[in-house]
Amino acid sequence: MNFADIFADLDREDLRLTMYGSTNADVERALQQPAGDIKALMALLSPAAEPYLEIMAQQAMELTRRRFGHNISLFIPMYLSNLCANECDYCGFTMSNKIKRKILNADEIQQEIDIIKGWGFDSILLVSGEHESKVGVEYFADVLPQIKQHFSHLAIEVQPLATDEYQRLAHLGLDAVMLYQETYHPVTYAKHHTRGKKQNFQYRLNSPDRLGRAGIDKIGLGVLLGLDDWRLDALLLGHHLAYLEHHYWRSKYSLSLPRLRPCTGGIEPNSPISDKGLVQVICAFRLFNEQLEISLSTRESERFRDNLLPMGITHMSAGSSTQPGGYASPDSQLDQFEISDERSVVEVTEAIKIAVILRYLKTGKLVGSLAPFKINLVYKLVVFR
Ligand code: SF4
Repeated sequence: MNFADIFADLDREDLRLTMYGSTNADVERALQQPAGDIKALMALLSPAAEPYLEIMAQQAMELTRRRFGHNISLFIPMYLSNLCANECDYCGFTMSNKIKRKILNADEIQQEIDIIKGWGFDSILLVSGEHESKVGVEYFADVLPQIKQHFSHLAIEVQPLATDEYQRLAHLGLDAVMLYQETYHPVTYAKHHTRGKKQNFQYRLNSPDRLGRAGIDKIGLGVLLGLDDWRLDALLLGHHLAYLEHHYWRSKYSLSLPRLRPCTGGIEPNSPISDKGLVQVICAFRLFNEQLEISLSTRESERFRDNLLPMGITHMSAGSSTQPGGYASPDSQLDQFEISDERSVVEVTEAIKIAVILRYLKTGKLVGSLAPFKINLVYKLVVFR
């Protein structure tokens, strides 16, 4: 069995009508016992839940603090290559884009590692376009041992691979794989993915099953919010997550919720999602799943990221470059997308510390592992005054 079998039985129109028909009573019921209840997730993602956002945010904050303390894990992407054999109309790496293409060699990778380690990172996300013949499993198997010796946590965001290929990389130190469906609407998916292997909706849909079978420690899911109806895409993502957790319970799960920007690739979002909408999605997923890691990338603005910090976010990227070799030799012609939060790693770290002390001043509680921050934070507050 694969998720595609479950997906085939989900009636999209029926789900849409039921979700948009949710009432205040449905939302209030959902708020009583949201954990693991897909009907509750549906109500919390619906328009009817909008007036309850403040309550959702409070509950999401409490649950996140209870499970994750005040910790925010920072990671950094390292782009290995921008070659891509797919045509996706929202992405700067799309095959037909006339940009300089590059694959990092061992020396260039080492230069990136040296800079990243200098900033103090211990968690890295390796990213590439999807080009099987030139940046395939052999390339990943070559570079992983070199990179893994410098980082405790190593994740990849590359093309979907076969189960045995994932197993091979896991033996070389791979901890996590991020693989986003982009949208759960097959027609919209076909509209935005017009060339290459990524056109195969079903294969992508079943990729997390292969990750589960390969025993990958952490599986990252996501949709590109705005490509299609974001409420429905988020709900189907919830179905996917629930299925995977049930079948591959040894793996951990994380969620990434990037938003399609009107300017990305020159295309307009079919269903634009506001800041408020994104907060609703994050809170709804936190209430649905207390264990879930939720990450927020530098696509979002610094102000918005700072405001979202207490509400369910557990992982953030910082100091990111979206180009191969971008830390040692920045070249904006190689970028995948524009970064919105351009703060340095130090600035992001300081913002997280400040968020923690503001929370501390409100609640009087400081989680043990963060106690060393205390003096530094108090100092910060004094400076602010
Ligand atoms: S989204 Fe991924 S597969 Fe599509 S063009 Fe960009 S890098 Fe290639």
